[in-house]
Amino acid sequence: MKRFMTVFVALTLALALATIATAGGDCECKEAKATGGWCDGCSAGFFGDMVLTSKKLHGALQAKPIPADKLTSLPCDGCKTAIEEDGTCESCHVTFVKSYAFRSPYAAALAQGQPMQWDEKAHAAKKAKGEAADCQGCEAAAKAGGWCNDCSVGFVGSHIYKDKVEHKNARKALTMIQRADRVAKSCESCAVAMVTDSKCGGCKIAYRNGKKIRL
Ligand SMILES: [Zn+2]
Ligand SMILES: [Zn+2]
Ligand SMILES: [Zn+2]
Ligand SMILES: [Zn+2]
Repeated sequence: MKRFMTVFVALTLALALATIATAGGDCECKEAKATGGWCDGCSAGFFGDMVLTSKKLHGALQAKPIPADKLTSLPCDGCKTAIEEDGTCESCHVTFVKSYAFRSPYAAALAQGQPMQWDEKAHAAKKAKGEAADCQGCEAAAKAGGWCNDCSVGFVGSHIYKDKVEHKNARKALTMIQRADRVAKSCESCAVAMVTDSKCGGCKIAYRNGKKIRL
């Protein structure tokens, strides 16, 4: 009987350990990284070049595609204008970029860019072979998230921006989203409010341009 109990306890323990091992879920980082998704196993979300720790914040940054047939039949006039000029509808608090709707004007600002064509490795290989080097200004700007005056192009993470104001806004947006992820460690709703220019009901704090406005 004693032996039976030992086996029973050992089996129960093994089962319990197996449950703990799978409780956090399997790692889906590889897929999440490719799609800008969320990995439950690691509690990590991918957004552009950033890895975020708050699932709520990550969710608030996502964009919804607007189907082509819906583009012209939106009930709100503000939205119709905003869609035409990739702008914001102030009454609905939605920003449109390339037929995607964003709750976060900062996520929208980053979405104005094109995936980066600057290839650091290819560039280094060319240089090593003594081939004509690519633009020096771009090389420096790609590293620092700066602007190349010669080519009129700006870099932020892995995107390029052809408009100086768009580039400035994208830089600001990147810094703010990184800050919001740190804020999420104390309050996730505040982090969401920060990136959506809205308020956190629990803390009674409103945010505008990343700054606190006490209610
Ligand atoms: Zn993972
Ligand atoms: Zn609207
Ligand atoms: Zn350049
Ligand atoms: Zn809060």
